[in-house]
Amino acid sequence: MSQAKEIVVLPGDGIGPEVTKEAVNVLEIVCKRHGHKLRIRSFPVGGASIDRYGRPLTDETLEACKDSEAVLLGAVGGDKWNDQPKDKRPESALLNLRKELDLYANLRPIKTYKSLIHASPLKPEIIEGVDIMIVRELTGGIYFGRPRLIEQTESGERAVDTKEYTTPEIKRVAHTAFETATVRNRKVTSVDKANVLDSSRLWRRTVEESAKQWPEIKLEHMLVDNCAMQLVRNPGQFDVILTGNMFGDILSDESSMITGSLGMLPSASIGEEYAMYEPVHGSAPDIAGQDKANPLAAIASVALMCRYSLDMPEAAQEIEEAIVATLHDGFRTADIASHFTKEHEVSTSEMGSAILKHLDSDLKPGIFL
Ligand code: NAD
Repeated sequence: MSQAKEIVVLPGDGIGPEVTKEAVNVLEIVCKRHGHKLRIRSFPVGGASIDRYGRPLTDETLEACKDSEAVLLGAVGGDKWNDQPKDKRPESALLNLRKELDLYANLRPIKTYKSLIHASPLKPEIIEGVDIMIVRELTGGIYFGRPRLIEQTESGERAVDTKEYTTPEIKRVAHTAFETATVRNRKVTSVDKANVLDSSRLWRRTVEESAKQWPEIKLEHMLVDNCAMQLVRNPGQFDVILTGNMFGDILSDESSMITGSLGMLPSASIGEEYAMYEPVHGSAPDIAGQDKANPLAAIASVALMCRYSLDMPEAAQEIEEAIVATLHDGFRTADIASHFTKEHEVSTSEMGSAILKHLDSDLKPGIFL
């Protein structure tokens, strides 16, 4: 047995604990299969941490994350905590974790699953074979820029958010995007709003400068409004999409419709020292506590953890293949079941168990897209 893999789990709020439970089961089984010991420590975060400690993120939780090999986060937020001041809102835990761990690159793979092709609101011929990696800058831009305020004026209130980027911030995430493209289809589409915003003009110039190090990669620029349209018109044209914090946030939710549901999209947030893995979706208060949530985004996030942090690429592939095989068998949570008969509809825990069953048996070859 190798040294134990040290993982911190932050289940969070709403459906967070429901989906992370299934993801942790998957992590345990692949570690066992590959002869790795696993040490998991779990801490409340977001609303759950406010309820227990009066703060969305405690120093102890942050330190535990810094001591781990990887963090698995569920989701944070919910109506219950909406009236908290902004630094005490559950979502501030997420922003602080990203900032404190310096997780500047958020990787969001968007892939069509053959068996879910009819779960998407887009036409099958448009989404067939789509395989995009969105590389979103995660620790800068308008979510972190200063000043940031709401103030009283003579004519009413005035609110300010600031979108700022520096050359080093752009360079490092551009580096991640170009590196990512080298093992894919060698194309980077950098998305900005350079026709209007100075921060985007700096973004474009810096990306162009960085691209000189990767002459084998084709670089194109696209305005964010056009990109939003192209993602539904012809998503197959994209390989790696590189973009800033807010544009990436919005474009990746839009892209989730290519896979059929937000519940299908995993993500990896990576920095020089630390890494955190989390589904793209939020705490989904509308379905929380009902055993209805789709756990596949959280489970696929564990696959990314195995690939990028735990040096277990075979386990990553096995998990991804188990997801494909389980969907192929007809298992559907409610969010992806709309085009299927009711007997295919399963709960969060049943979907998790179906994945575990596949990981426990030999996978069927030849059904993968
Ligand atoms: P959401 O992602 O929670 O939900 C949007 C819609 O998608 C809902 O209808 C929901 O039921 C559905 N959905 C999401 N995940 C699903 C899953 N795994 N399976 C099935 N259906 C799923 O976004 P929202 O409703 O805008 O936000 C709810 C709360 O989550 C807010 O407090 C928001 O701030 C927070 N949030 C947190 C994160 C995060 O923790 N990373 C991300 C986004 C939103």
